[in-house]
Amino acid sequence: MKFDAPITIALSKGRIFKQSLPLLAHAGIVPADDPETSRKLILDTNHEQVKLVIIRATDVPTYVEYGAADIGIAGKDVLLEHGGEGLYEPVDLKIARCRMMTAGYPDATQKTGRLTVATKYVKSAQRFFAAKGEQVEIIKLYGSMELAPIVGLADLIVDLVESGNTLKANGLVPLEHICDISSRLVINKASWKMKHGLITQLIDAFREAVHQHSH
Ligand code: ATP
Ligand code: MG
Repeated sequence: MKFDAPITIALSKGRIFKQSLPLLAHAGIVPADDPETSRKLILDTNHEQVKLVIIRATDVPTYVEYGAADIGIAGKDVLLEHGGEGLYEPVDLKIARCRMMTAGYPDATQKTGRLTVATKYVKSAQRFFAAKGEQVEIIKLYGSMELAPIVGLADLIVDLVESGNTLKANGLVPLEHICDISSRLVINKASWKMKHGLITQLIDAFREAVHQHSH
């Protein structure tokens, strides 16, 4: 693929970076460094015009919305919390798939009175319980949600579940399914207009890669 304007792609290291590699490769983009071993925050690629910025998963929508990156790859969980207004979200990349769920001790919801829910997904949790007509108290956490029921901070948590092994290891069980999660390609609105040809090419390449990898 030929690029005629510089493009910056924002993504987080860990599972999203690893699972994005085949999709990037399909678009002809190969990073020059491995973010797991390199301390660089900006990675060159085989394309002189394409750079990757490696940031926290929750910061990806912010970088893309403000145009610090033209394109990003972010989990739907993160996008639901960020709010979708400032970004285009044209492709479900079907990577980093898991489920957003409530979890707790098996008898967590037997309690009478208002339940307490600990989560880093405050908006998603609010929306879920409001839709059920349940009044809950939500406590914002930034990680290790599984600890909250164990230490009596909350009755329930809202977290991402893949195998359920982390919950199980802490004596908890998944309870209610909130939504399916996967990573999405997000695009800055101004970049979409100004680098339209190039971004369209990239989107097409990603779509094709997703299609091939899901067969
Ligand atoms: P940090 O670990 O730096 O605090 P984080 O927990 O958001 O940040 P990751 O654990 O790498 O970072 O998760 C990044 C994204 O990967 C999440 O936003 C989500 O979309 C997806 N993800 C998280 N946990 C899982 C999981 N268990 N299975 C599949 N995908 C997941
Ligand atoms: Mg994590």
